Amino acid sequence: MKKGLLIVYSGPSGVGKSTILAEVLKEEDLKLSFSVSMTTRDPREGEEEGVDYFFVDKETFEKAIKEDKFLEYATYVNNYYGTPKDFVEKQREKGYNVMLEIDVQGGLQVMEKCPDAVTIFIEPPSLEVLKERLIGRGTDPMDVIEQRVSRATGEIEKSATYKYHVINDDLSVAVQEVIDIIRAEMAMSESDGWWEEQPIEE
Ligand code: 5GP
Repeated sequence: MKKGLLIVYSGPSGVGKSTILAEVLKEEDLKLSFSVSMTTRDPREGEEEGVDYFFVDKETFEKAIKEDKFLEYATYVNNYYGTPKDFVEKQREKGYNVMLEIDVQGGLQVMEKCPDAVTIFIEPPSLEVLKERLIGRGTDPMDVIEQRVSRATGEIEKSATYKYHVINDDLSVAVQEVIDIIRAEMAMSESDGWWEEQPIEE
């Protein structure tokens, strides 16, 4: 069986990544598997253990780092976030396309380790729109919002290494663009090495 794709999916906090992803994950033919990260951040209202994140304390996270349990990890606004590598590998072996919703620091680490990863970056129409969305979400105090916006500027600058850029101006358009990218990459990966499978004609 062909190994599944590794998809790095990033974008600044508040850009609407999770909303887009929730729609994309409904497309069963994409055979997507969402990688649940581990974090030391507190759960937000409505977030579920093992669904949105594995919520752990700093000590547990640092132990997992020492035991080499992460494909990548990063600190983001005073918290750790990391991708448990076992899950990713097992799902890919089963043929699932694994979706990593991670920040740019983590994305760059994955690109180094897995140069064939498919990389998608979601951009806001502008930084002003991003800040308004973070305020409207109402989940963070103003100082954290300021830190997230300032972080976004750096992330957008560093995102040049991502293969695909999608601007989230209109939700349904952005969803369709991400679906089309994954379908195209699946088709390319399917055709990889097709010549090796062709019988040689005399
Ligand atoms: P939030 O606190 O808003 O859930 O996430 C903050 C940022 O951390 C987002 O950009 C999110 O994509 C990123 N993130 C979530 N999980 C991981 C992870 O496992 N690794 C890395 N590097 N970033 C992550």
